[in-house]
Amino acid sequence: MKLEPTPLAGVIGLPTSHSRSPKLHGHWLARYGIKGHYIPMDIQSGDLARAMDVLPKLGFKGVNVTIPHKEAVLDLADLISDRAALIGAANTLTFQNDGKLHADNTDGIGFLANIQQSCPDWSAKDKPCLVLGAGGAARAVVAALLQEKTPEILLANRTRARADALKAHFGGKISVIDWSHAPHVLDDVGAIINSTSLGMSGKEDLKLSLENVRPGTLVNDLVYTPLKTELLERAEQAGCQVVDGLGMLLHQARPGFERWFGYRPEIDDALRRAVLM
Ligand code: NAP
Repeated sequence: MKLEPTPLAGVIGLPTSHSRSPKLHGHWLARYGIKGHYIPMDIQSGDLARAMDVLPKLGFKGVNVTIPHKEAVLDLADLISDRAALIGAANTLTFQNDGKLHADNTDGIGFLANIQQSCPDWSAKDKPCLVLGAGGAARAVVAALLQEKTPEILLANRTRARADALKAHFGGKISVIDWSHAPHVLDDVGAIINSTSLGMSGKEDLKLSLENVRPGTLVNDLVYTPLKTELLERAEQAGCQVVDGLGMLLHQARPGFERWFGYRPEIDDALRRAVLM
């Protein structure tokens, strides 16, 4: 009788100690009784190419990628999904049976699925969206909103040049506004997305005045530590529909798990609790 090798997956980055992915995938492996392992691995930039060569030989089906390797892995991939190419970064790698390295970015899928699960009646098509931030997460959010045919994206970033660069990359539907002007456009937008790191535990809060916000506006914070950020607290008091960032993390993980372990996992309250522990 031929024994099948134990399937392995993991997360690579530097560091990986902060990553919630081992808890997340570990919960799914236990829940579905899959005899696999998900392992955090700190990898130096100079060792990245060697790791891509060695990991499949050790039985790895794929890995998630976190800072600082999200862009560099694209240079090592044989196949790059359209959305990873558009965003310019990958978070999910698969070592295919034909020996090819496939790079994908599932942050946009996670962002949209999280909103759809929490606010199924909201549509990106209805009104412009305000996106705060112009880093890696903002690129995934902008790509996803454009894919959903939002009429306009108002983009504000502390460093305006980064927002201008994002507009140059993604094109005409983006209107860059000054960071200080963001509170004045709130009555025109159907959604406010915080894709800055403001509001994270240990950082300043996002001091966006919500005086002009319309009740019912969707407010989504990508930050998930804490789960209910100060922005979401105030938005809730102003009658907005609020969506925290944890669901995005959970939903972006699903395609990788399905590819590596061959099972489409559920995203439910048990998973949320396991990841928050
Ligand atoms: P990043 O590339 O480092 O970008 C950070 C962004 O935050 C930039 O736009 C930066 O503006 C802005 N920022 C930082 N400090 C600021 C301050 N004091 N005032 C104003 N703006 C400030 O990081 P990222 O990868 O895009 O991640 C951003 C956030 O999203 C993080 O909190 C991350 O944890 C979260 N995230 C969540 C998920 C999820 O699954 N929920 C996924 C990805 C990311 P400048 O350009 O001016 O520096």
